[in-house]
Amino acid sequence: MSRHKILRENPGESFICLSCGKAVTPLTTGGMHRNHCPHCLCSVHVDLLPGDRRSSCRGVMAPISLWVREDGECSVLHRCRQCGVIKSNRVAADDSESMLLSIAVTSLNRLPFPVDNLKNTVNNRRTG
Ligand SMILES: [Zn+2]
Ligand SMILES: [Zn+2]
Repeated sequence: MSRHKILRENPGESFICLSCGKAVTPLTTGGMHRNHCPHCLCSVHVDLLPGDRRSSCRGVMAPISLWVREDGECSVLHRCRQCGVIKSNRVAADDSESMLLSIAVTSLNRLPFPVDNLKNTVNNRRTG
């Protein structure tokens, strides 16, 4: 009988990322606790409500997209590989910039229409 502790009860402690296996150390800046891996941006489905650690799912939550809110704050949208729930988590200061970029680019590459057209639309809108 083995019981894995996926994320520690205390979010201020280090943990090993379930997805990429790297050690994740606590955030040194900012008041919030870390809720996803800064290396691969994966999270674990442990919360029913943010921070409550009451979900029994414990599936790996993969980053699927970026969400920039109206106030300019950037969040990562995570989708649980096990149950399919989607949650948003604020981007942390030390999150991998190349991973964030690759999420954004992946979404763009999978649009059901050519991105070149989109660029033209944006440029036309800008120039009036
Ligand atoms: Zn990771
Ligand atoms: Zn889940």
